[in-house]
Amino acid sequence: MAKIEVAKDRCKGCGLCIMNCPKKIIKIGSTMNPKGYFIAEQIDESKCTGCALCAVMCPDMAITVYK
Ligand code: SF4
Ligand code: SF4
Repeated sequence: MAKIEVAKDRCKGCGLCIMNCPKKIIKIGSTMNPKGYFIAEQIDESKCTGCALCAVMCPDMAITVYK
């Protein structure tokens, strides 16, 4: 099983990771970071394949994938 971690201070809520996750398991959550952006979060860890597409697509390198 894999999972992702989003760096709260880096995410700007652009949604690119959400659009590119083949499993559709990332959403914009209700947590606002210090810059005023609602940040991305993983919905269902059990479905994550660790493909890292989300991390590759993130323009702010905010996602770390753990396999
Ligand atoms: S590693 Fe792949 S399956 Fe997991 S959240 Fe990122 S894009 Fe989705
Ligand atoms: S692509 Fe990066 S900056 Fe954009 S919502 Fe996802 S984690 Fe945040």
